[in-house]
Amino acid sequence: MRYCKQICHRCGAEADSLRASWFNVHMLCQDCRAEESAHPLYEHARRTEFAKTQTGNYRFEGIGLPEDLQRKYFTR
Ligand SMILES: [Zn+2]
Repeated sequence: MRYCKQICHRCGAEADSLRASWFNVHMLCQDCRAEESAHPLYEHARRTEFAKTQTGNYRFEGIGLPEDLQRKYFTR
């Protein structure tokens, strides 16, 4: 049994590795990252984050989770 599994902040699935979301500070499993990269706001989120780091704002927390994803995961 492995005990180093991590839990995805968004869908709650166990994952071998988590990566940071582009939309907010969540750590995501592969499935959620794939879902983000297919989202219409993904490019916007990446561009915004890039622009912020260019101005020295490394604490930028993202543009926020798009409403449709929020509804999907956080309102039951
Ligand atoms: Zn997930």
